[in-house]
Amino acid sequence: DPSSEMYHPLNDAYWKAKGVTPYLALARTFQVIEETKGRLKMIDTLSNFFCSVMLVSPVDLLPCVYLSINQLAPAYEGLELGVAETTLMKAICKATGRNLAHIKSQTHITGDLGIVAEQSRMSQRMMFQPAQLTVRGVYSKLKEIAGISGQSKITHIYDVFVACRLSEARFFIRSLLGKLRIGIAELSLLTALAIALVKRNRLSDCKTNKVCDIYKDEIANTTLLLKTTFCQCPNYDIIIPAILKYNIEDLHKHCPMHPGMPLKPMLAQPTKGVHEVLERFSGMHITCEWKYDGERAQIHLNDKGEISIFSRNSENNTEKYPDLIARSKNVLKTAVQSYILDSEIVAWDVERKQILPFQVLSTRKRKNVDIEEIKVQVCVYIFDLLYINGAALVTKPLSERRKLLLENFQEVEGEWRFATALDTNDMDEVQQFLEESIKGNCEGLMVKTLDTEATYEIAKRSRNWLKLKKDYLSNVGDSLDLVVIGGYKGKGRRTGAYGGFLLACYDTDNEEYQSICKIGTGFTDDDLKAHSEFLSKHVISGPKSYFRYDSSVEPDVWFEPVQVWEVKCADLSLSPVHRAAIGIVDSERGISLRFPRFIRIREDKSAENATDATQVAHMYQSQDQVKNNQKMSDPMD
Ligand code: ATP
Repeated sequence: DPSSEMYHPLNDAYWKAKGVTPYLALARTFQVIEETKGRLKMIDTLSNFFCSVMLVSPVDLLPCVYLSINQLAPAYEGLELGVAETTLMKAICKATGRNLAHIKSQTHITGDLGIVAEQSRMSQRMMFQPAQLTVRGVYSKLKEIAGISGQSKITHIYDVFVACRLSEARFFIRSLLGKLRIGIAELSLLTALAIALVKRNRLSDCKTNKVCDIYKDEIANTTLLLKTTFCQCPNYDIIIPAILKYNIEDLHKHCPMHPGMPLKPMLAQPTKGVHEVLERFSGMHITCEWKYDGERAQIHLNDKGEISIFSRNSENNTEKYPDLIARSKNVLKTAVQSYILDSEIVAWDVERKQILPFQVLSTRKRKNVDIEEIKVQVCVYIFDLLYINGAALVTKPLSERRKLLLENFQEVEGEWRFATALDTNDMDEVQQFLEESIKGNCEGLMVKTLDTEATYEIAKRSRNWLKLKKDYLSNVGDSLDLVVIGGYKGKGRRTGAYGGFLLACYDTDNEEYQSICKIGTGFTDDDLKAHSEFLSKHVISGPKSYFRYDSSVEPDVWFEPVQVWEVKCADLSLSPVHRAAIGIVDSERGISLRFPRFIRIREDKSAENATDATQVAHMYQSQDQVKNNQKMSDPMD
């Protein structure tokens, strides 16, 4: 049992003798994690496993890390598994002699092909036992499988599957499906790695299960250093060898940021009006920039002259914009060798020379774009420079970054522009500039610190960037981006489709989805048809262990957390039923949305990028009536 204190690779004769991590050790760890309820315990189990790998076969740490988050390479490289269910079923039939109809019906009943594969494999008698699978062997096979297509895919899957023992079959099949179902996301993984490092270093001092208590501070510090490094260098191929080789304090030096590797973007906090902006920034030097409504783009040039474009989600969008690549030289004013620009790509009306709404941009093709066939032209609005000629600028203040931007880059009409900006602390001027931005087809303003507290905070929702949207007069100030986790069957005109949905925010600290409202408004009939078609492909047999909800809102069907919707609402209120931000504002009640209305699908956001529980709490608390009530009930006020 890999979760127990007694479990140690040195007790695992095979592992110890060969110095090669058995795949079964990883599968058993996943099995324990899947059966565990609390997140801390899940992380602890994973950290014990990682610690064992570090001690016995450190070269296996990289494949173990990738398999734990079901990736084969950095996400931005786009090497994905996601083998079709029917292909896997065929391979399972071939290996076990079962017929396809049986496998299909069992999958329908259990809702999990992984379990069906495991059961079919275990009930099968073998003439001889194939050699034990190893983590590195399975990992390299998965990489091979991702790179090929057709019949040879089935043959490769078959080869590994016939050697699977016990729960290996379950996790091998789930990896191929692209759904591991153990609920380990990036934050848990980095924390488990940090704890494993401390355990490895401290194992001679005390027992594994004591390390977490005795070395709490060291663990917190190691986790922070690891997370910071991961922000500037989100690539385990670089980080894992470095943590095995260097002192954790020096890790960031060995894993520098570089063009070609996307950084998680700095994000803004919403505000509800000019007064709130000026209150926050009183006495600080600030700039207001127009807030363009398009698609965020981080544009990279490396010193080989290659350009890559990354989305808000760090997906590689380079193929989508061959037109931008073709004219990329036009933006250079000096002989820049390498750079990382932060910008917004906006649809552009060439004839009228004006910005077009986001909806126009969203009609552009994503893949295999032929430059001759492009109908929607785009213009890039640059608002930041994060790296130039081999030097990272993220720790420099915005005023310096902007100076370097203006010195080395230039505007070209309809192609490359700098975000329209005004440096002022005058309330009337900000108000007027906001109105101008709306007339200029923008969403409002981004207000940013220029000199103090003005570094580029990678992956952070910072108080040093505030967004001021045109509908700030409404009580809430911003829309929310929520995950669809359940569906209610439609009645009347909506029979046959889903008529309503259960939405959730994401709690980053606990890595769970918390229900926030039911929604049935804002959809056209076409919307509903499209949602039903898409979501019916993501139905799961029951709620995930990391969904938090009350049984009174239990939907007819549950969905994998795969899609994010932008939603507006009248206001946010405390709720005895919903679980959003529970424990932050109130110990027993969560927060829910009143009169939620669907706006659009957020294709550029993954479920883990949905509005976070702390943001929900912040939005709730900054509503006028909540603030006023708090004032009234505070006797010191
Ligand atoms: P968030 O990214 O904050 O979760 P979101 O994706 O819904 O939310 P908004 O809240 O509307 O985006 O605002 C932030 C986004 O505004 C940025 O991610 C960027 O794409 C866009 N943007 C447009 N103009 C600017 C600008 N001048 N400076 C920074 N961001 C800008």
